[in-house]
Amino acid sequence: MNYKKIAFVTHPQETHWVGDGFKVHNFIPGIPGLEMKDMDPFILLDYNAKMEVTPSDTPRGVGVHPHRGFETVTIAYNGKVQHHDSAGNGGIIGTGDVQWMTAASGVLHKEYYEKEWSRQGGTFQMVQLWTNLPKADKMSTPGYQAIPNETMGRYVLPGNSGFVEVIAGKYNDVEGPAHTHSPISLMNARLNPGGKATFSFPESYNTALLVVQGSILANEIDVPENNFVKFENKGEVFTVEATEPDTVVLIMSGKPLHEPIVAYGPFVMNTKQEIMQAFDDLNHGKFGYLED
Ligand code: MN
Repeated sequence: MNYKKIAFVTHPQETHWVGDGFKVHNFIPGIPGLEMKDMDPFILLDYNAKMEVTPSDTPRGVGVHPHRGFETVTIAYNGKVQHHDSAGNGGIIGTGDVQWMTAASGVLHKEYYEKEWSRQGGTFQMVQLWTNLPKADKMSTPGYQAIPNETMGRYVLPGNSGFVEVIAGKYNDVEGPAHTHSPISLMNARLNPGGKATFSFPESYNTALLVVQGSILANEIDVPENNFVKFENKGEVFTVEATEPDTVVLIMSGKPLHEPIVAYGPFVMNTKQEIMQAFDDLNHGKFGYLED
């Protein structure tokens, strides 16, 4: 078989807070030697590993802030997040659900623990992934896809191995519901101990995985919980085998856009001029209005 080799396995970096609700390990582009272009079209990966949240009547989170030029993909593994944006979209991202927000020409949004969940508190665990938009789509109309868990594609693996939950792209003949602006595969492998799944993506695609729960052998190499694996752009096939019960692995692969990336804070564009324009537009109220 034409195996895709592992470029590196890395443990989580030090955490930082996003607002007062999200305590994240940044993997993309925070790993030394891994720049945004190296995982193109995945330009940011923030991971809130499991943490206990104490009950509070005032939900923690991050207040009103802008985005332009890309998409934010929020995957809730434990806990609930409430979202509102200036395009008028909003919703609750429950445990197991995904929200795919296309900021495109620009939105203001805020992200908080869901009120009722916050009152009860509990285990919180989440991924936020930023997917870049092709130049042609950066200034298009903002969009929003709520992807509840039950709408995801589900491929049941043979021999009580578990299943693959498809958010975007395809696993064998099972397709995910997310609409993407470039070829992107995003899926969770939910595996029983000894459960095995084989993945295949074109070698030019940038491919990585994150062990969200449990532990795995990736191509026979040990990868513990909360570790990230970046694959080389050589070969197509890799295998994941769970070595613990209830193992969950987030797998991402995407065709690189190969366009210039100029990122500044919440804006990701192609030129410096476009970043300056974004600040100008923000200051002139062109991102709309959202109450704090
Ligand atoms: Mn945001």
